[in-house]
Amino acid sequence: MNYIIIGSGAAGIQAARELRQRDPKGTIHVFSGDMGAYSRCMLHQYVSGERNPARLRFVDPDFFERWDIRHHPECPVKAVCPREKTVATEKGVYPYDKLLVASGAVSRIPPTPGFAEAPNVFGFRDLRDAEAILLACQSGRRAFVVGTGLSGMDAAYGLIRRGLDVTVNGRSPRIIPRQSDETVSGLYETRFRQAGARLLLGQSVVRTVQGEGGRITGLIMADGEEIPCDFVVAAAGVTPSAAFLNGSGIATGKGIAVNEYLETSVPDIFAAGDVTGLSGTWASAALQGRTAARNMLGLRERYKNETLAKNTMNFFGLPAMALGDVSAPIGSEEEIVWKDGGEYGRIVRREGTIVSVQLAGNLDHGGIWEYLIRRGMGGDWSAAKLRHASQSGFYGFSSDAGKKRIQSVWLEKHIV
Ligand SMILES: Cc1cc2nc3c(=O)[nH]c(=O)nc-3n(C[C@H](O)[C@H](O)[C@H](O)COP(=O)(O)OP(=O)(O)OC[C@H]3O[C@@H](n4cnc5c(N)ncnc54)[C@H](O)[C@@H]3O)c2cc1C
Repeated sequence: MNYIIIGSGAAGIQAARELRQRDPKGTIHVFSGDMGAYSRCMLHQYVSGERNPARLRFVDPDFFERWDIRHHPECPVKAVCPREKTVATEKGVYPYDKLLVASGAVSRIPPTPGFAEAPNVFGFRDLRDAEAILLACQSGRRAFVVGTGLSGMDAAYGLIRRGLDVTVNGRSPRIIPRQSDETVSGLYETRFRQAGARLLLGQSVVRTVQGEGGRITGLIMADGEEIPCDFVVAAAGVTPSAAFLNGSGIATGKGIAVNEYLETSVPDIFAAGDVTGLSGTWASAALQGRTAARNMLGLRERYKNETLAKNTMNFFGLPAMALGDVSAPIGSEEEIVWKDGGEYGRIVRREGTIVSVQLAGNLDHGGIWEYLIRRGMGGDWSAAKLRHASQSGFYGFSSDAGKKRIQSVWLEKHIV
């Protein structure tokens, strides 16, 4: 069997591994648009200078060799021909029996006049974006970041750490609104401001000022203020990376359209990860990759998006974790909040089950809360007991394995 996977992100790598584990003999080709398997969640640390590209890898350097996978880095697929069952690249045409499209997404450039054509507007999605930004940092000191979600603030963080003057703008009244509740947004806003960033929240750019060659030199805000800038980073949303499929007959909607088996509209072609538009998180892309691979092998396994939304971040020394939808407004739910020195926590329970947990300052017991949410637990809702769960001394264990087991036992006894 000849398998081809387009993309070596979370979905593509998981799929390749799953195929190899279950089919030791098949031929597996993986094509990458750039160097290969690296984590975009760490891109900001490349911009900041904290990591080099090798330290962005999320698989071992010998991964492809060890798993007998033929990797084609820097080899973008240009077209897919379902009639002949081939994919075309600049280096040649490759036949497939089963094809997986796991090509992820690209940054969406906002429709602000001038942005699409300007040579100094960059996305923030892949290594090439990061490299273009680093080049721009050599001649410019003023960066304007559009987008106050996680990737926008990632970009802002990297640029601040690199010593640039950074303005961040977004329509939401607070930063990182999907992965933080209001308190944690506020804690991070303070830190970004203290680090020198200017945050323009709850507003949009209405016009741009352009110089030679269409370069953006300033942004005009709704109140008429002009923010001068040397370059713009657009990190306010993504669009599926599927332009190379034009003419293939593969149906697309808000991403590549797939059924519950992650099959596209064309036989023997599957899709997984951000390119499907089903979600935009690492864990979900990885799960889709594994599920698609099993279906490529004929196992008929339904994809169920049961991954718990989980985000961990750390800006300027403040770690935070969000489990579940921490930004959902409180209706009939119950909540417990604690603030204690540098620590913050908020637990929300609906109909007896914990549905979201926000932690900041101390994530030591994030695993406990994850355990409870995943198992649909909630139980005894006494602040004292819940608070108790975060006292590390309570367990009196140092070994991680032992600690995990005992935590589970303790939780079942005391919280469930
Ligand atoms: C700055 C940033 C921060 C993020 N932080 C988080 C986070 O904290 N937590 C979280 O859960 N998620 C985070 N995400 C989202 C997460 O990275 C994605 O959901 C995940 O990477 C999706 O995996 P994927 O395999 O679908 O696509 P991708 O990781 O985008 O991989 C796509 C692959 O396809 C390749 N490709 C594209 N076109 C072609 C082509 N024509 N031919 C060959 N190869 C091609 C690319 O080169 C790449 O290898 C972040 C994303 C960004 C950009």
